[in-house]
Amino acid sequence: MPKRSMIPLALAVLIAIATAPCGLAVPQAAAPTTVPAAVPALARIVILATGGTIAGAQPKEGGPAYKSGTLSVEALVKATPGLDALAVITSEQIASIASQDMNDFVWFKLARRTNQLLASPNVDGIVVTHGTDTLEETGYFLDLVLKSGKPVVLVGSMRPATSLSADGPLNLYNAVAVAADVAARGRGVLVVLNDEVHAARDVQKTNSTSLQTFVSVNRGKLGEVYYGKVRYFNVRTDRHTTTSEFSLDGLEALPRVDIVYAHEGVDGTMVRAAVAAGAKGIVLAGVGDGNAAKDMIDALAEAARKGIVVVRSTRVGSGIVRRNIELDDDALGFAVALELNPQKARVLLRMALTKTGDVREIQRIFEQY
Ligand code: ASP
Repeated sequence: MPKRSMIPLALAVLIAIATAPCGLAVPQAAAPTTVPAAVPALARIVILATGGTIAGAQPKEGGPAYKSGTLSVEALVKATPGLDALAVITSEQIASIASQDMNDFVWFKLARRTNQLLASPNVDGIVVTHGTDTLEETGYFLDLVLKSGKPVVLVGSMRPATSLSADGPLNLYNAVAVAADVAARGRGVLVVLNDEVHAARDVQKTNSTSLQTFVSVNRGKLGEVYYGKVRYFNVRTDRHTTTSEFSLDGLEALPRVDIVYAHEGVDGTMVRAAVAAGAKGIVLAGVGDGNAAKDMIDALAEAARKGIVVVRSTRVGSGIVRRNIELDDDALGFAVALELNPQKARVLLRMALTKTGDVREIQRIFEQY
């Protein structure tokens, strides 16, 4: 909801009259006859916590026995001064896990609760605290299945809450500021870390320890947030949230999709293992533009002939994997991931497979999301 002006309307009219340029007719402002009933001046934001380093504790800086996801959401809120001036905060603990352990059970719980809260007229936005390791996957999943234009912002931190110069509190402060900002509406699920605002679809973790790890490698960040002051300078062009065709309604589980990784000397063993494990889809983290040695490509083509949907992505970290360049996707029966990295392609393929097993239709989905 918009942040409402703190200046009463009558005062605003007086200021407008007093500051009207000389020589111009003073506008005959119609006296307001009604003043809206008491409306909250602050946005109402719910923080849903899942764990991660933002809630992590480490007995010794940089030392062993580090544990992600140990502090409660109440402790995180308490450690972030000034939140109450940004928004009316409520919070819920959805899970307390390190995000390497993120799983479909928590995804369903988080997505369903988020959709339920967003549907309430008493909620203006959601912040999800999350470990950074799989934050980009959860964010993209939510981008595909949430049904609201209200802001949803994922936030994590690179340093544990107990660290010297912990980055969690300012990241959380900025995430709440973004979620409370009316200009964040309709931008899909957002990620806020280290003063930057990213589309969950575009962003990926690019450095194992640095604070500046989240980068939208192909499209760039959406904006910046500086001590709660937000500026956007990029817009999204893909389908998400309110324009997404995907939903969890009626679903109990998502289909299995495995990622197989290409390298020098690779063969088709991992592809055949994925097929044997019951994968309905396989994403290739290929070399270069989504390629692999002949035995691996043969195994993938064999899987495609069995009706398993194969999507080619790349292990290189950026760029677009296009159809029919070095490999003949039409003949092999493959789809391509375009800009999506393997872990994002896996998320989209799992959702796509809830609708169709037709590879051409799946290619259409990869063009649009
Ligand atoms: N392993 C941690 C996690 O993803 C790392 C982090 O949050 O930065 O939960």
